[in-house]
Order: sequence, then C-alpha cells, then structure tokens
Amino acid sequence: MGASTRLLCTVIMGAPGSSKDTVSSRIIKHLELKHVSSGDLLRQNMLRGTEIGVLAKTFIDQGKLIPHDVMTRLALHELKNLIEHSWLLDGFPRTRPQAEALDRAYQIDTVINLNVPFEVIKQRLTARWIYPTSGRVYKIEFNSPKTVGTDDPTGEPFVQHEDDKPETAIKRLKAYEAQTVLVLQYY
Ligand code: AMP
Repeated sequence: MGASTRLLCTVIMGAPGSSKDTVSSRIIKHLELKHVSSGDLLRQNMLRGTEIGVLAKTFIDQGKLIPHDVMTRLALHELKNLIEHSWLLDGFPRTRPQAEALDRAYQIDTVINLNVPFEVIKQRLTARWIYPTSGRVYKIEFNSPKTVGTDDPTGEPFVQHEDDKPETAIKRLKAYEAQTVLVLQYY
C-alpha cells in the first residue's frame, strides 16, 4: 500500500464455525492487510513458553477468556509493531472493555460481522472429524470419507475433537454469543 494511502483498521467478528478464517484470508489477500489473530498470538506465546503463554494456557485449557489486561496489552503491543500497515483484527476485541481499550488506541474504520445462523454453525462444527495419527480432517458435508468413520488412506478409525462434539460446540457458541453481543452492540 502506498505511503499516501490512509491505513485501514478493521475488525472481523464471527462465531466458531462461521468460516471466519476463510473469509479473513480472502480479505487480507484482496486488501493487503496484516492478519492479527488474538488466538494465534496466544498460541505462539504458549509454544515459546513465555510468561503470557504459560498464563494463557491455564485459561484456554479451562475454556475461559484470558484476563482483560493481559489480552489487551498483548493485542495492542502487536498492533504497535504494525504502525505502517493496514490490519484485520481477528478474535479481539471479544469483550466490551477490550473494544473500549482498542478504541482509545485506534480509530476503527470497519467492523465485519459474519452473521451465520446458529443451526448452520452447529451442523458445520459437529460434522468435523479428525484422523488422530496424521491430523487429516474430514468434513462430513464437504469432504466426507469414502467409508463413514474411517480414514481413507489407512482405513483406521478417526475421532471427533473434543471441541467439535455437539455439547461442546453448543457451549462454545453460547459463550461466544454472550460475550460478543455486547461488543456488537458497542459497535
Ligand atoms: P481463538 O483461536 O480465537 O478461538 O482463541 C483461542 C482461545 O484464546 C479462546 O478460547 C480464549 O481462551 C483465548 N482468547 C482469544 N482471544 C481472546 C480475547 N480477545 N480475549 C480473551 N481471551 C481470548
């Protein structure tokens, strides 16, 4: 993007299973934005074993949000490094205090909300099965295995990730809704 072009500060919101990753990758490619994902930032810290990563793991393992101050510091610090770039922020803000903190630091140009019906998301999430040895992913509707319940190349049984089981998927969706409705109202 040329130096005279005003930088674009964008947020994308969408429930788990709303195809946020796919949509985000198309947007960033098309508009030449940097993709800043709060989940990725946390996972990178966890992999590196940083203080934030160790703390984040205890919350993520319990299915809880990372404390507001830690998450906000991490996200804003990352954006500070992108001073010359337009960006698409993904996964942050997830709460109203985070949205307010972001607003104090940046003028947000656009908020994209992927409004996918609950039932469609539930179907998508619970249709995902994984072959544990290789990590191959099957989606029952789009990429179904030749024989239900087994990995194509090896014929071995595959499993459903804990996150993709119907009861967990519904819990995740409900939690997402409860948190983000306040952020959407804010915007
Ligand atoms: P994600 O990959 O966006 O689903 O994030 C994975 C996990 O990281 C979430 O389940 C939360 O525990 C944590 N997390 C990601 N973004 C945030 C955020 N903005 N605020 C608090 N916790 C977050």
